[in-house]
Amino acid sequence: MSTLVVGSVAYDGIETPFGKKDPVLGGSATYISIASSFFTSPVKLVGVVGQDFAESDIQRFRDKGIDLEGLQIDRTGKTFYWAGRYHFDLNTRDTLDTQLNVFEHFDPILPDAYKASRIVCLGNIHPSLQSKVLDQVDGADLVICDTMNFWISGAPEALKTTLKRVDVLIINDSEARELSGLPNLIKAADAIRAMGPRVLIIKKGEHGALLFTEDGIFSAPAYPVVDIFDPTGAGDTFLGGFAGWLSSTGDLSHGNMRRAVIYGSVMASFCVEEFGPERLLTLTRDEIDARYAQFRALSHIP
Ligand code: AMP
Repeated sequence: MSTLVVGSVAYDGIETPFGKKDPVLGGSATYISIASSFFTSPVKLVGVVGQDFAESDIQRFRDKGIDLEGLQIDRTGKTFYWAGRYHFDLNTRDTLDTQLNVFEHFDPILPDAYKASRIVCLGNIHPSLQSKVLDQVDGADLVICDTMNFWISGAPEALKTTLKRVDVLIINDSEARELSGLPNLIKAADAIRAMGPRVLIIKKGEHGALLFTEDGIFSAPAYPVVDIFDPTGAGDTFLGGFAGWLSSTGDLSHGNMRRAVIYGSVMASFCVEEFGPERLLTLTRDEIDARYAQFRALSHIP
């Protein structure tokens, strides 16, 4: 199933207890598209970068077979920049800087060849931009959406409008509590699914993820990663792996979504092993499948 990804393409400045790197290629669409490119091809990217965006970074997308017809290069400004510092436990981070730059006037225009995409991945950007993308798509089979606290509190009405058009929402536990106003995740899931998405995935960082569909709840474990260097992009990478698996199989059943959650977790577990998307860029499909098998063994009950 052809897959479209919209979101930020960025330069990040990252500080973790293990080091500092600035600039690093980042952005929600970057992680989603690279992760899904292991499963399906070509992934169609919609985004914007500025005059400072390096040709070598464009080449990194090309090397993964990602279709860049929908990537705008705005020569009037700089690429979106985000900087963050992670705390000692790596679960919490402070945003140090957000410079929208060319993103401030971004108008996502879909090339004609993108409009018939079957799976649409709405990476973390303003919910009204996410809606604008959906306006241009001819009836996708599955719309998968990510968002963050910034939009839940900053653009609640636009987000509610977008959510009515979404099939799968992927957020973390604190975002689920904030969006629903409920502390219990099971009650929160019911409330969020009543807002539109028939499928909800709640990520719990190093504690795995929960999948809620009309067929019930699935609890996925987290891979016990020993060397976590940089959690940036783990959530987006999860989405990319989830969407990529569904896209490659064309099966949108609850059972296959369970597998997709594990593929998402596999991809996220690789992402955190190096700064930025570096680990994803050296990854092989054999390594992905081997870790998928380890995931199955991890939660096997004899
Ligand atoms: P994650 O760690 O999965 O939340 O994703 C981190 C990525 O999101 C970074 O590479 C940032 O460039 C990007 N990002 C951070 N804040 C925003 C924002 N407000 N809008 C769009 N992308 C963002």
